[in-house]
Amino acid sequence: MKQILTGWLIDGTGKKAIKNAVIESKKGFVTSIKQYSKLNQIDLDLSSCTVIPGLVDAHVHMAMSGSLDTDFRKAQLELSSDTAKNLITANAKELLNYGVAAVRDGGDKYGFVERYLNDKVVSNRDSSSGISSPDILTPGMAWHAKGRYGGLIGRCPADSQSLGNAIKTAKGAKHVKIVNSGINSLVEFGKQTSPQFDFDELKTAIVVAKEMGLQVMVHANGEEPVKQSIEAGADSIEHGFFMGSDNLKRMADTGTIWVPTACTMKAYCESLDQQSNEADVAKRIWDEQLSLISKARQAGTNLAIGTDSGSMGVFHGKSIYIEIMAFIIAGFSIEEAISCSVKNGRDLCPGVNTGPLEKNAPLTFSAYDGSPEELSGMLQNCQNGLKALKEFYIFGQKII
Ligand SMILES: [Zn+2]
Repeated sequence: MKQILTGWLIDGTGKKAIKNAVIESKKGFVTSIKQYSKLNQIDLDLSSCTVIPGLVDAHVHMAMSGSLDTDFRKAQLELSSDTAKNLITANAKELLNYGVAAVRDGGDKYGFVERYLNDKVVSNRDSSSGISSPDILTPGMAWHAKGRYGGLIGRCPADSQSLGNAIKTAKGAKHVKIVNSGINSLVEFGKQTSPQFDFDELKTAIVVAKEMGLQVMVHANGEEPVKQSIEAGADSIEHGFFMGSDNLKRMADTGTIWVPTACTMKAYCESLDQQSNEADVAKRIWDEQLSLISKARQAGTNLAIGTDSGSMGVFHGKSIYIEIMAFIIAGFSIEEAISCSVKNGRDLCPGVNTGPLEKNAPLTFSAYDGSPEELSGMLQNCQNGLKALKEFYIFGQKII
């Protein structure tokens, strides 16, 4: 493939869509992007489509399913290694079906994702089989403090071991995940929890990770845990429910990226008993988070699109459209929302197979029927968004 004619190109930088842009490429990489002229020899005509870069989901749990079945949810925390492998393979396929080219994993209890990736490297070594998975970056198991939330996705440092020393022992991780607060209460709206680690321990641990060349994602909800995590040097704040406006300003100043995972609350609203207090609290948290996302845009905070897929009712792949929808409802243009996924997401996942479509970038893109305005409308209904997804390429290789 050499020259691709687009109806509209959303390049992922945040710039407004360009009408009738032509992407030129060589060996899976973009060589130039220019305006269409009659002299162009077109190899792939996508003139009725909006073309966007392959999406990045900056917060997933590959070893878990979004299933609503409570027995299954319980069982999936104690999978055998083979069953986990099958589940991860299925989740990977589902992500590709929705145009997701790269994901940042948030950890699992037994490090199954890390093992899956190690096996895959070995088994792919002699095979010429096509791309069967998005790029997956995993921390292995997350770290939490003893006696606090986090056992579902990781483990705590050994007795008498500091968090920093524990991180030093983790080999093969592509980044570090630290849990530094409780989870969001669906019983009491706005309930805050204390930080899991004291400031000096957290800061030292983040320095250790950086010395190992690893970025650090920190799960933190509430004002104090988020403030502490930003000041300790976290690369991203995960969730950030009820963190308050001062923390938005802090993140804008330090360049910390916020991954709000708002769609988890939408999933609770839809899957819990509609008459229950929990469903009501989830709805209020969803509204609250949307308003915080809107304030973050005004404060100049960098945001990324992360779904927390694998949580209850948060399905791999399709949930990314719901999170993009949340950003659009909160006032982001479609170009800005896609840039949060692609540009800021790629910054959290260095070296992955996607990013803004510009010179020397991987030729990783998907094409959706219709204009950006129509796409914006369709993305708000994930089923329509999926129907509109016509083609998907990674490094110029056809996936869909
Ligand atoms: Zn998570």
